[in-house]
Amino acid sequence: MSHIRYLSNFAALFFDQRKEVKPHNEFIIPLTGLPLGLKHHEFELSRDFFVEEAYEGVSNGQVTVLLTLDKHENMIELLFQIEGWLEVNCDRCGDAYQQSIRSNQKIIFNFGDHYEEESDDIFVIPADLHEYNLRQLIYEYTILSLPLRKIHPNDKAGNSTCNPNVLNKLNAFRPSQATDPRWDALKKLQHQ
Ligand SMILES: [Zn+2]
Repeated sequence: MSHIRYLSNFAALFFDQRKEVKPHNEFIIPLTGLPLGLKHHEFELSRDFFVEEAYEGVSNGQVTVLLTLDKHENMIELLFQIEGWLEVNCDRCGDAYQQSIRSNQKIIFNFGDHYEEESDDIFVIPADLHEYNLRQLIYEYTILSLPLRKIHPNDKAGNSTCNPNVLNKLNAFRPSQATDPRWDALKKLQHQ
């Protein structure tokens, strides 16, 4: 998997974690004493979350993130299942709408003796780390669930639900399908 890293790099995430003062403890998962095998967490993201993060272009949303941890001897697999909607501005008409999102993101925490980002989805974390705050990763993966091109969805009849006033203006600028009679006359001359 490759993707653009929208926010900060992995080292910065850890730096933020160390200096961070709770209240964002709802995204902290304990690692000490985590037994081998599967463990599930559920996170609900709503308007407050997106307002605080203040990423340009997303100021509201309702998203459920199901996290499955699978701990092995030397690593933890994390599967994020993200589903919900984000309020974004339409690339065609500019109005806000609710864009559905649904994605899965799998990453691996390998136990080591320092922090390191091996790739987009493989991280090294200290084996004796007590807890990990997933807030930043969850936010990042949620934003990455957005499609590249954000357009109002069509209604059931297949018609655009974009702002009709803006669409009318856009159509007025579109070149007409009818041919210009002067061009037709020129073409005739060329072929003579
Ligand atoms: Zn639109």
